[in-house]
This record gives sequence, structure tokens and C-alpha cells, in this order.
Amino acid sequence: MAAKTLHFLLIPHIGPGHTIPMIDMAKLLAKQPNLTVTIATTPLNAARYAPTLPSPIRFLHLPFPTAEAGLPEGCESTDQIPSTDFIPNFLAAIDMLQQKLEERYETLNPPPNCIISDKYMSWTGDFADKYHIPRIMFDGMSCFNELCYNNLYASKVFDEMSESEPFVVPGLPDKIELTRNQLPPEFNPSSVDTSGFRQRARDAEVRAYGVVINSFEELECEYVSEYKKLRGGKVWCIGPLSLCDGNNDDSVKSRRGNVAAIDERQCVKWLDSHEPGSVVYACFGSLVRLNTPQLIELGLGLEASNRPFIWVVKSVHREKEVEEWLAESGFEERVKDRGLIIRGWAPQVLILSHPSVGGFLTHCGWNSTLESVCSGVPMITWPQFAEQFINEKLVVQVLGIGFGVGADSVVHVGEEDRFGVKVKSESVTKAIERVMGDGVEGAETRERAKELGIIARNAINEGGSSHLNLTLLIQDIMHLANASC
Ligand code: UDP
Repeated sequence: MAAKTLHFLLIPHIGPGHTIPMIDMAKLLAKQPNLTVTIATTPLNAARYAPTLPSPIRFLHLPFPTAEAGLPEGCESTDQIPSTDFIPNFLAAIDMLQQKLEERYETLNPPPNCIISDKYMSWTGDFADKYHIPRIMFDGMSCFNELCYNNLYASKVFDEMSESEPFVVPGLPDKIELTRNQLPPEFNPSSVDTSGFRQRARDAEVRAYGVVINSFEELECEYVSEYKKLRGGKVWCIGPLSLCDGNNDDSVKSRRGNVAAIDERQCVKWLDSHEPGSVVYACFGSLVRLNTPQLIELGLGLEASNRPFIWVVKSVHREKEVEEWLAESGFEERVKDRGLIIRGWAPQVLILSHPSVGGFLTHCGWNSTLESVCSGVPMITWPQFAEQFINEKLVVQVLGIGFGVGADSVVHVGEEDRFGVKVKSESVTKAIERVMGDGVEGAETRERAKELGIIARNAINEGGSSHLNLTLLIQDIMHLANASC
């Protein structure tokens, strides 16, 4: 008898940090025998990510109701929201996508056997129930993070605390201390009220059949096992998803939904001209926008490290003043022999996988964190918002593959100008030195990062834990599909 073909429908949240790993997941799934994949997303996002996808993966276009929601034309992704004033409109538009998908459901032929949807596409919970399709949640985070969130929701331990008083997150294998003002917006709201949206996401999360995680079991064994207990075993760690392309060419590694602001060959040539492990790579993901004084401190910290560096500057609204500082202060001239500034989108995976990179100054977004792990690069951690302070705890305290610059509280998206300088240049330089310098702690940190990089790459290869988990996930869905026939 011919094997049944399964159809997976993937519904990513529309923002780079959420869409990129789901695009990688689509590639991974599409490589499996007897499995077809459709990605439901808005037309502009489909166009943005399609060039990196192999042809068997189909897109189902869900028109984004920009006008209806009062958004500027072309605003179809979190990194395109012009100001925080538009966040409520954007979230409303996301919820309207349920109707768009229902109107097009009949075109999905054969109907999907499984939906994998982002946590923040909470309407997919009702949609899946209506059409009787098992739904797996993807949250783009680690099991460590999922457990922290869960235990924070359950205990509300922070309720009695002042903003800066440390408390221990209950029920974790390690003693993890946080303060209230380091928590994500679910527990530490920003000035924009997103509580309804987040509560719906939480409700849909709890109802999901299971969870796929962009992580690998060896990275966080105890946390995976605890989280599995919590979710009745239906947790599949199938990452690191950024390795789904294997040894693909440099242009695939660099695009990830954007055209790099630097020629890839020029970038590699520059890296080739430096010693192995000598370069600091500084990049804060797709959404962080430091205020200008803070950005200057970061630049001065990199300069004072006396090491070669690549600095990814995304100044957006502050372009004029940042450019003035780079030129008029003489910064760019002073560092021209050892500093490469990329204005805009960097080919991050390409850079991190180059042997010259010896440390990653990161905001601790989960994708960036995992990409660093994959390349065996230790981190200099500077979390900004969302769950990034929790990721920092995993990197610094649990895994011992980085040191922090000493950031002590979140700067929510769009609230950068409420603060001045929170981290001084000396703290940046000091943390770089701890990770990349001659001291014993740096050497040990680098060694641990290198070892984890090897384990990460093995996890996704045939015989590895993530490879096995992907097979188990597909078997589980196959079982459900056969039972419903
Ligand atoms: N990224 C990139 N070039 C950039 C900035 C980001 O390729 O200049 C990619 C990065 O490799 C990662 C994603 O965008 O895959 C950012 O996700 P992350 O979770 O690290 O941070 P977020 O952007 O969600 O804050």
C-alpha cells in the first residue's frame, strides 16, 4: 500500500524573528518523504521569503487588511510598524486573518492534516477547532523560556515585589533570579496595552495539541523534560532550525527575508583578513532601536576593546544624528582599519559561521542566541525587551557560554527615548574582554561554546535528537490522520 501523504499548514506570525524560523521549519518538513507544506501568510511576506524557499513549498496568500485596520499601505510585518501608535491596529489586522483563511480554506487541497501556527496567531486555535485539525503551537522560544513563562503565570511570584527586587522563578531545575522590570510584557506591561492580545495567545497556547520548539534536547535536557511533563509529552525539539539548509551557499545563509546591506563576498573577504576568533560581531536583531546616546556608548565600547569588529547599525528614525556622529566625531575614521559598519540588514548566519568571529554582542533574541550556539561562538549579552532577559540567564548562568554587559531592565519597543544611557561603554568593553580575553574564564567559556556548537550540528543530522524528534512528530500526526479516516 502506498504511504499516505501528509499536508502541513504553517501559519507564522508576521515579523522576522517569528517568520524566519518557521520558513526554516517549512524547508525541513518539505524534505521529509510523503509530506507537503503550505505556508499561509500575507502577500508581501510571501514575496519577501519566497526567494529562499525550494519550489515544492506553496504559499496561501492571506490579504492583510491594512486599510481596514488603519495601517499605512505596505505595513505587513512587525519591523515595518512606523510607530508604537500603530501597534493596536497591527494586532487587530492579525486577528482579521482568520476570516481571510476561512474564505480560502476550500483552496487547500488536500485539506491539512496538521497546523503549525505561531503562538501570537491565537485565532488559529478557533480555526483549527472549527475544521477539526490538530494544531501544534510554535513560540520561537526555548523550553527554558516556556517553563519560566508557565511558572510565572502560575505563581505570580513577582506580584508582591518592587520593580528591582530580585526573586527566584519557582519550580525550575536551577536557581534563576529575575527582577520584575526584566520581565516580558506579559508580566511587565509596556505603555501600549497589549494585554488582551497576549491573554488570547496564552489561552490558545494552553489548548494546543502540542508544541514544536526551536532548540535541541542536549542544550537544555532538564528543561525539556520538565516542559514535556507539563504538556503531557507532546513537545518536539526539532532545532536548531537555522541549520536546515546544511551547507547551502552563502546567499541563502545571508538573506533570511531581507537583502543584506553589504555584498556577501566583501563581507567574507573582510572576515578572511582577520585572525581566527578575533572579531567581535555586534547586532541587535530586527527590532531593537537604541537611542542615539546609547548607540554612541556601544560604538565607543567596541572601539575601546581594541579588537576588530563588525557593527550592525539600524538607526532608522535617528539616521541623520547617527550618521553625523559617525562622521563628525571621527569614529569611523579612527576605526577604519578594524571596524566594519553595516548599515541595515546583515548576513548574520554567514558572519557567525566564519572562523574569524570570536564573540557575538547580542540582544539575546532566541534566533540570534541559537545561531551563535550553532557556530560555537560565545556571547556578550545585552538583552533589551520581550523574553531576552530570560534568554540571557540561560546563556550566562545555565550554559556558561557568555557574559553580560550589565543591562538591568527592559526597554520596551518604542520606549527608547524615555531613557538615556543605561549601559556605559566601559561595561561593554569589560564584557568583551571577559569573553574574548586571555583570562581563564574566557578560555573556558569559549571552549564550552565550541563544544555546544558541535552538539547542535549533530542534533539536526541523521541519528541526532532533533532529527529523531521530527520523525516522532510526523508519526504522531500520521497516527491521528489514520485514526480520523
Ligand atoms: N537577522 C539578520 N540580519 C540582521 C538582523 C537579524 O539576518 O541584520 C536575523 C537573525 O539571523 C535572526 C533574526 O533575524 O534569525 C532575528 O531574530 P531574533 O530572535 O534574534 O531577534 P528579533 O529580531 O526577533 O528581536
